[in-house]
Amino acid sequence: MIIDSHVHINSKVIDDLDYTLKHINKQKNLESVINVGLDIETSKECAEISKRENKFYSSVGIHPLYIEKENCNQLFNLINDKVVAIGEIGLDSTRGNYYEQKKYLIRQIFIANELKLPVIIHSNNSNKQIIEIFENSIKPKYGCVFHCFQPDLDILKYIIDNEYFISFAGRITYKTAKKSIEIIKEVPIDNFLVETDSPFIPIGLNKEIESKPSNINYIINRISKIKEIDYKEIEEITSRNTKVLFKKMR
Ligand SMILES: [Zn+2]
Repeated sequence: MIIDSHVHINSKVIDDLDYTLKHINKQKNLESVINVGLDIETSKECAEISKRENKFYSSVGIHPLYIEKENCNQLFNLINDKVVAIGEIGLDSTRGNYYEQKKYLIRQIFIANELKLPVIIHSNNSNKQIIEIFENSIKPKYGCVFHCFQPDLDILKYIIDNEYFISFAGRITYKTAKKSIEIIKEVPIDNFLVETDSPFIPIGLNKEIESKPSNINYIINRISKIKEIDYKEIEEITSRNTKVLFKKMR
């Protein structure tokens, strides 16, 4: 059974929320999804959806591109049995407000450590800066995944040394994914998850396949071919790893 470790299924990003929830519930081979918040409003919605929908778990956090006017302390009020992580949080180089972003990242790692929860890291051209924060300010104590990992062998080594995880999304299926192929070959089987980041990251050589949990098989298939490990085994390995990281999942 597959676990899609990172999706965004909430009314801010999906046109027909009920239809999408039904579609996911009907997927026989999909064990569960982790629905990830981007700000307080979507985090609240993700937490509520996971409470009532069997296959859904959730993560609450403030994404670096959504930090304006948000109050990190509100995250404490959103925790329920099925909120399994703090995220997505991190740094994104497309905006000039690194100083503000770093403050939010540090505060949210602190909250995750307080709550004994792992963190889901968003890094856009910021892997090195995030590791600097881990080393010089605050380190996630209860696990960490670099979601939709931007390939970098040095950072991968750091992640493995710290028993953290990376997660592979649709990008590894593109024609241009040369660097990702290196990472897939190098990463030990105990250190990676799979995700669609649905509905944001298209799948396929020419990005022709829609980003939704029912298409996660294309991502697993790609890893299976490159690592020369049976498809079913990749499915099992990634589901097991997901539960190792997100300990509240059953
Ligand atoms: Zn995401």
